[in-house]
Amino acid sequence: MIIMKFGGTSVRDSDAVERLITIVSEKTPQKAVVVVSALSGVTDTLTQIAQHSSNGHVEDALRLTAQLEERHLEMTEKLLSGNKDLLTQVRDTIIHLFARLNEMVRVISILEELSDMSMAKILSYGEILSSTIIHKAMLNYGLKCAFADARNFIVTDSRYLKGEPQINVICRKVPELLTREFEGNDIIITQGFISATIDGTATTLGRGGSDYTAALIGMAADATEIQIWTDVDGVHTTDPGKVSKTKSIPVMSFSEAAELSFFGAKVLHPATIQPAIEKNIPVRVLNSMEPHKKGTLIRSDNEVSENGVRAISFKENIIVINVFSMKMLNSFGFLTRLFEIFGKYGTSVDLISTSEVNVSLTVNSDNNLEAIISEISLFAVVSVSRDKSQVSVVGKNLKETKGLGKRIFGAISDHNITMISQGASDINISFVVNRSDLAEVVSSLHKEFFE
Ligand code: ADP
Ligand code: ASP
Ligand code: MG
Repeated sequence: MIIMKFGGTSVRDSDAVERLITIVSEKTPQKAVVVVSALSGVTDTLTQIAQHSSNGHVEDALRLTAQLEERHLEMTEKLLSGNKDLLTQVRDTIIHLFARLNEMVRVISILEELSDMSMAKILSYGEILSSTIIHKAMLNYGLKCAFADARNFIVTDSRYLKGEPQINVICRKVPELLTREFEGNDIIITQGFISATIDGTATTLGRGGSDYTAALIGMAADATEIQIWTDVDGVHTTDPGKVSKTKSIPVMSFSEAAELSFFGAKVLHPATIQPAIEKNIPVRVLNSMEPHKKGTLIRSDNEVSENGVRAISFKENIIVINVFSMKMLNSFGFLTRLFEIFGKYGTSVDLISTSEVNVSLTVNSDNNLEAIISEISLFAVVSVSRDKSQVSVVGKNLKETKGLGKRIFGAISDHNITMISQGASDINISFVVNRSDLAEVVSSLHKEFFE
């Protein structure tokens, strides 16, 4: 049994859905769980709708919901025009879902208050809509396909917008689902990204979380392969959206893929690889627009032998926090105190570098930053640098690769480097540059290693 996840661009319109159906039908009668995202851009639009509502701008919100409704109806007409019954069923469901969404918009705009709980509910419409349409399009094509609501088995804690999956519950519920729904069916279609607490309140796995859904189902179902179908033919040497001569990487290790995604490569959600490692399930990244290309196979570390630099990832907009305190000198417990503050606010720190009296660290977002800084200021001097980017060179056995530092920093010697972090892992050298230098830095590094 395989898991096939199709991202937003791979379901963006009726042509994309037809390609999806061809790809899936070529796998049958092998059993497959198909995980779909919302149509491209829909989660962003739902976010705007929620924001307009909470600002009391009900007209703006309703204008956007009307556009979304139109887009989904139009796609349905194109896919199901030959089957009146299915077309009517799906049209009715879409109209009903938008009526409910509009009700929520009105209530939120009256209250002018948007909780994370309401936001998660609103965001869940994107995947519910796409999966409903695609399910019926598959039936129309003649595939034996069951529909499953991910909120019944992807169970998380109550962090509504970035729920922590409850692995034990998921590992119990998914096999039950498969036994039930594969009876007489080859395919089960479900939604990525959306989830629920154990008592059924909507949550999400965080932006880009559909990849994670696919991996969680793969782990719980002991799948033979997890396929991530997207708009590029595999994981590339760097983001092909930013650099022109990137190459698809045929094979890479779990560790390399996890590190690349954690350090910014959007092609995989950062949590995707962990469930795959758990059961040693290969992950394949494939292009839904060019399905016969080989893409990238991600497999266990000991099956990937090639040493050296594999890829470059980056985070365009990060914040560097510098902490200075004479109290650090010859004392203990300082770092504990410092990191407890980040822990308390649930803010994760990416890079750290320390000297006798200084600690520099990087964070991804402004969330709770003011509170964090004011707490640190009680015992140290803090300064914040913005408009910085973080670049990571990822590969295997980097510590043993002679002359690597010279090649990396030689290639970008015209640029200022704010912070360097190497050594914590053998597969990553990361550093911070000015955001205005990022494009040149990445393209110079890419030239040095891959062109
Ligand atoms: P999906 O909607 O299918 O989940 P995403 O937009 O989330 O797709 O991820 C695919 C995008 O990831 C690509 O279009 C590409 O711009 C970006 N990306 C960033 N780094 C890489 C990389 N190293 N290799 C491939 N794609 C990358
Ligand atoms: N639709 C969600 C998002 O855009 C989840 C996903 O596509 O992975 O973030
Ligand atoms: Mg994605």
